[in-house]
Amino acid sequence: MRVAIVNFSRQSLVSPHEIRAAVERLPREHYAKIKIIRYDPERSLALEMAYINNNPESLRARGTYLHDWDSSDSVVVIYPFKTRDGFFHTLYHEIGHHVFFRVLDQGLRDEWFALRRAEKGFVSKRARKDAREDFAETYSCLCFRTHLLYHAPGKADFMRRKVFRSVIATRRYI
Ligand SMILES: [Zn+2]
Repeated sequence: MRVAIVNFSRQSLVSPHEIRAAVERLPREHYAKIKIIRYDPERSLALEMAYINNNPESLRARGTYLHDWDSSDSVVVIYPFKTRDGFFHTLYHEIGHHVFFRVLDQGLRDEWFALRRAEKGFVSKRARKDAREDFAETYSCLCFRTHLLYHAPGKADFMRRKVFRSVIATRRYI
């Protein structure tokens, strides 16, 4: 089943066609279980999550990755963005969370934790937060901002050889 691209008519920076193309350049198994990519202009899910988890940090989220354990479906939610670059970075970041939790096996996750202890470089400030954010940020950079990977060459190598296992077609601008 194809991933549903929902609600993006409520903005005009990226088209649903571009979003689909950006997802479908990834290895198929990275997005096969993602059911919906949804735009949430009111940030209603972020508000709800901040309330449920009593975590005001959720209010600043640029996107959210959700997994429904009953149906085994995953959903990516994107909050308002100001630039196309910002959108694509968030899109790949959230898909990176999905890949970490649902595509990698525990052996590869353990390798990532070990690698993170060994290599002190990070692709972004956000990547410093914890191992999951680091993975999502590094994943996104491999898809879209490869120039930032020089900060963390060991992690970039792990992404290329063990997560993507093939060369991802690079595009100058998506
Ligand atoms: Zn994240």
